[in-house]
Amino acid sequence: MNYTAPRGTRDILPTESAVWQWIENQTIELCQKYGFHEIRTPIFEQTDLFQRAVGEATDIVSKEMYTFSDRGERSLTLRPEGTASIVRAYLQHQLAATEKISRLLYRGPMFRYERPQAGRYRQFYQLGFEILGAASALVDAEIISMGIDLLAKLGITDLTVSINSVGCDVCRPVIREQLRGFLQESLPQLCDDCRYRFEKNPLRILDCKNKTCQNYFSGLPSSTKILCQSCGEHFSSLITYLDLLKVNYAVDDFLVRGLDYYTKTVFEIRSNQLGAQNAICGGGRYDNLVHELGGQPTPAFGFAIGMDRLYMVLEQLNHIPTIKTDIIDFYFMTMGEKERQWACKIMHDLRNNGLSCDINYDIASIKTLFRDAERKKALFAIIIGEDELDKQAISVKNMKTREQYNIHAENMIIELIKLRKEINQVPI
Ligand code: AMP
Repeated sequence: MNYTAPRGTRDILPTESAVWQWIENQTIELCQKYGFHEIRTPIFEQTDLFQRAVGEATDIVSKEMYTFSDRGERSLTLRPEGTASIVRAYLQHQLAATEKISRLLYRGPMFRYERPQAGRYRQFYQLGFEILGAASALVDAEIISMGIDLLAKLGITDLTVSINSVGCDVCRPVIREQLRGFLQESLPQLCDDCRYRFEKNPLRILDCKNKTCQNYFSGLPSSTKILCQSCGEHFSSLITYLDLLKVNYAVDDFLVRGLDYYTKTVFEIRSNQLGAQNAICGGGRYDNLVHELGGQPTPAFGFAIGMDRLYMVLEQLNHIPTIKTDIIDFYFMTMGEKERQWACKIMHDLRNNGLSCDINYDIASIKTLFRDAERKKALFAIIIGEDELDKQAISVKNMKTREQYNIHAENMIIELIKLRKEINQVPI
């Protein structure tokens, strides 16, 4: 029988995985400068949590969740996104009692039953950032700018940054009514999804990708013009800060995002390199969610980066870096069992000194071994034959310059480390 990964999922093989680790390390390094700390939450949660947080009328909750009953008849769901779990953990562990503002970073797989296509998976990976406890629009601007800086650090600069405001409990009903009023007459011409959303969740209509429907949206009055005073001030303050931080953004009246918890600011960063699924980051403010999940009213802001898409962009741009794990420092070529026993001890010491080593486990000709060392991008070959064993001195060959050295057992580790350091090749 042949098994393959389930539809919409894939294996991240070692070469790609090494790049993911590099991305994650770069991210952690940058966001530590903003005071973020990592949190790890379970991959599944009680189903109610997502129903409540993300919203019953969203596509995620109504069509895309992986929900199952465990053997104790509890309804559980594989997390479709990260924010709900973070807020749950924030409340469960009373993080507000220990720090006024929590800055949390998370990473890992998310699950949505979507139609798979390029850049859209059923199991995909996010790096997410949440700030809980701060209402200032400076937070929104700082974090949007951090996202852009992070992408720039990875070599991605050809981006479109869109921002919008979806208002709050006060002005959202006005925005909804304005939208309903505007689309009322065209309703029979709109698709089934739009007609359903018209009743249940009118703002989401603006997310419709159907070209016929989109024609009916043109001329729609801008929602940012009818925000209440608080949301209006927040939005103009956001713009002031974004300008100060020299962020190149566009206000997009149609940006609404697929989760119901957003209030005020929403934003998205798209890569001009990708096709239909071109959003690499998305997020916004969610000032009501902590309260809705049982906590004190707490303003919050967050966003997530899609790792799968980020990698795709790097690939398209030919920006995949050379990673250290792609090379090895020393490749041991041994000619027999006794030689291998000696090599085994040297390798152990070298590895404990931070150097990478490999060895031939089977007998092979020296020619085959050199080919293997080249394939593994070894910097040095270490040859240990009978002669070397007798003299207690190994032969070391620089694979690039072909220079050869004899190093005696005494001080061998120190000498080898010195040799490696002399090579001016420091991959990431
Ligand atoms: P969201 O959680 O919907 O706000 O999405 C945030 C980011 O996650 C998006 O900008 C995408 O980069 C990524 N993303 C969302 N859904 C998928 C998916 N099905 N497959 C791959 N990446 C996704």
